[in-house]
Amino acid sequence: MQTNLASFIKDTPEGKEADSILRKCVHCGFCNATCPTYQLLGDELDGPRGRIYLIKQILEGSSPSAKTQLHLDRCLTCRACETTCPSGVQYGRLADIGRNLVEQRVARGPVESAWRGALSAVISNGSLFGSLLKLGQLARPLLPPALKRKIPPAAAAAKPWPTAVHARKMLVLDGCAQPSLSPNTNAAAARVLDRLGITLVRAPDAGCCGAVTFHLNRQEAALDSMRRTIDAWWPHIESGAEAIVMTASGCGVTVKEYGHYLAHDPAYAAKAQRVTELTKDISEIILAEGAKLRALVTRHSSHVTGQRIAFHSPCSLQHGMKLKGGVEKLLTDLGYELTSVPDAHLCCGSAGTYSILQPELSRRLQENKIAALESGAPTTILTANIGCQAHLQSATALPVRHWIEALDELSAG
Ligand code: SF4
Ligand code: SF4
Repeated sequence: MQTNLASFIKDTPEGKEADSILRKCVHCGFCNATCPTYQLLGDELDGPRGRIYLIKQILEGSSPSAKTQLHLDRCLTCRACETTCPSGVQYGRLADIGRNLVEQRVARGPVESAWRGALSAVISNGSLFGSLLKLGQLARPLLPPALKRKIPPAAAAAKPWPTAVHARKMLVLDGCAQPSLSPNTNAAAARVLDRLGITLVRAPDAGCCGAVTFHLNRQEAALDSMRRTIDAWWPHIESGAEAIVMTASGCGVTVKEYGHYLAHDPAYAAKAQRVTELTKDISEIILAEGAKLRALVTRHSSHVTGQRIAFHSPCSLQHGMKLKGGVEKLLTDLGYELTSVPDAHLCCGSAGTYSILQPELSRRLQENKIAALESGAPTTILTANIGCQAHLQSATALPVRHWIEALDELSAG
């Protein structure tokens, strides 16, 4: 695609990056075929090719309108289009640049601005989120069904965190929403890793990784969260943590890109790049320990043989981190029977705060996803991201869990 970027951005790092991304796009439209919003709305401007064109116009000097903002807001940032694109167009990075420009030039109404600000403040603050969730859970029995569905019942308490200290150490991100919504997920990861001879270490000051804030287009605030997280992790990294483990793929996809986000911050660029190099989804860690894991679970495999599981692969895992098929292979090797999930590449509609900000589109995607997941008659749905887990659980009677919890039970003996 030919480009002619306007002088206000042409020579900036964002302009140069956007230009090189745009030049790769040949406007073939293959990406539209796998875009969830294009499938639902059938509008070229609600598909990746149209959004790329909108962003190109802004970069070339056109003024964005509220309509431009709406088409970009409706994008889930699921990045299915990246997986499909034969030319390697990094749509997600281009969308970040385009959204930031639109946010600066198109004012949102006071109510919408306040709402987005409140969402950012609450979800990214783990203790505030946890307190408000508890209040909601207390009021849950009195709420109308539609609202009740949005507030998950209190989760089971976390199982004990192992106390053994091994020579091998890895850091884990506690995150903001996950400790309240599914407190056992990280404990399960710590227990499985402990059996593999690895101590999982928490850094309580790390807080939110910045993903939620970034996706709400508060990019500067998100960068501050990233710097704070790096500061909390840095002493552990210097003392030899061999990896930073992500148990929520929505966080993982962001933390893996710290090096990119902070590349132009002289004080943090090198540290952020180190964090990027160390960050791994929990599936990457477990798959690398395959032989030890098999020895651990072999004697228990009869427990799962024939158990029918539907795996929901989050977009952040399969499209964002490009880790498609790893968890599915692991579960199959362990003896689970994975049911077929039609259109497994499509987003479930959770997408950070999308389910709150775009409720109708999100609900339609959720309905389609639940139908696909339930179509093979599984007994449980396993997934890899807390946002998807909570969103799916609100619409199905089947249990929805992180797969590491299943593995914890399987390897516990
Ligand atoms: S992003 Fe990729 S798939 Fe989509 S129009 Fe451009 S080149 Fe084609
Ligand atoms: S990120 Fe997802 S919703 Fe957005 S344009 Fe790409 S495929 Fe469509």
